[in-house]
Amino acid sequence: MTETRKRVLLAKPRGYCAGVDRAVQTVEEALKLYGAPIYVRKQIVHNKHVVSTLEARGAIFVEENEEVPEGSTVIFSAHGVAPEVYEQAKQRSLKAIDATCPLVTKVHHEARRFAAEDYDILLIGHEGHEEVIGTAGEAPAHIQLVDGPDGVDKVTVRDPNKVVWLSQTTLSVDETMETVARLKTRLPLLQSPPSDDICYATQNRQHVVKEIAPECDVVLVVGSRNSSNSVRLVEVALDGGARGGYLIDYASEIQEEWLEGATTVGVTSGASVPDDLVTEVLDHLAERGFADVTEVTTAEERLTFSLPQELKRDMKAAAARTLP
Ligand code: SF4
Repeated sequence: MTETRKRVLLAKPRGYCAGVDRAVQTVEEALKLYGAPIYVRKQIVHNKHVVSTLEARGAIFVEENEEVPEGSTVIFSAHGVAPEVYEQAKQRSLKAIDATCPLVTKVHHEARRFAAEDYDILLIGHEGHEEVIGTAGEAPAHIQLVDGPDGVDKVTVRDPNKVVWLSQTTLSVDETMETVARLKTRLPLLQSPPSDDICYATQNRQHVVKEIAPECDVVLVVGSRNSSNSVRLVEVALDGGARGGYLIDYASEIQEEWLEGATTVGVTSGASVPDDLVTEVLDHLAERGFADVTEVTTAEERLTFSLPQELKRDMKAAAARTLP
């Protein structure tokens, strides 16, 4: 009898996106330049491992600016903050470094622009998510949150001719389109954002999972529970036909029964996940007979973002001081 060959389909792109890479580097460079401790408002990116690694190097994660001693350096996370957070930092004489992903900043600009033109803005996103709180804070009087297709019925607008939708950057592409379609049945003149708000990294990671899911018995997504884009990847895998889909922070969380009877296991990771955690998952699977790994690539990513201006300026000044 021939044994069915066990295999892994490894999704690419997966893991770190340009915004996360920049945010993590910002904390690392700030630690080198100013020394520990460096305060970071909220988790710099939504990943347990990244946060604990930076904590071990001297980063202190806080929820609000009030927890940061006056005059200290504080870094704002990749998810972005409302304008009032900058104001609070100024009042406490904090040196603020903004690690907001430029693709989140782009949505903030859109919100400000449409609010200045007196639009009603329907922000599609998850209630309570830091990014949504930050974007909504740009124009609270103009923005209302639409939390998925079920939130559509609650929407009320002043003028149905002057309404635009924007979105959180890390949503499910398909669910967002469903929400927009429902909104359009109520508001036929609803305008779309000038360019995609759901970012390239979110879209690419979902696209490759959609490709592999029909062939997978199980898809393992490495990512943390509070990571929106990681949670979406599990949903995409299940919608795409995988029999099981699981979110794990570490390989040690894989339960043996998930793999029972499986011949093809899909593996991917959220945009805030370093690839060494994926390597540990592959090693764990190899020990259980899943040593045959095929990487399935649906896009190449080359985007990078430069470090925040305020940090670059200080790095340059420090470099100049050390010159002979
Ligand atoms: S997931 Fe997208 S929006 Fe979020 S940090 Fe990465 S590139 Fe930026």
